[in-house]
Amino acid sequence: MTIFEKIVAGEIPCKKVLENDSFLAFYDINPKAPVHILAIPKICVKDFHLASPTLLGELCAFTQEVAKHVGLDKSGYRVITNIGDDGGQEVPHLHFHILGGGKLAFPTLA
Ligand code: AMP
Repeated sequence: MTIFEKIVAGEIPCKKVLENDSFLAFYDINPKAPVHILAIPKICVKDFHLASPTLLGELCAFTQEVAKHVGLDKSGYRVITNIGDDGGQEVPHLHFHILGGGKLAFPTLA
């Protein structure tokens, strides 16, 4: 079970932003921007590359809702999804990072 599945199951607490039947958004425990939220599907799919277009479309719509909910739609924001080792993925459960709250630098190589 991934840490995010444990969050969905309520076994690990999170600072919830928004939720519906299929998706959950919560604040990242180690924020990389003034606002850093993770949007995840409640079902565990390992990463973006393995996710169906339908699931990704729904996650995109949910991500837009989350950004609007916290007011990032007005100031701008960034959506990132890390995939595999070179992508820097630590948690093998599809998630979109929603970053904002200030001007963001553009990342390159570690
Ligand atoms: P990634 O490297 O793309 O897999 O991102 C995983 C993210 O999950 C990191 O930004 C972590 O800070 C975040 N994270 C890990 N555990 C938790 C947790 N219990 N609650 C909130 N965020 C977490």
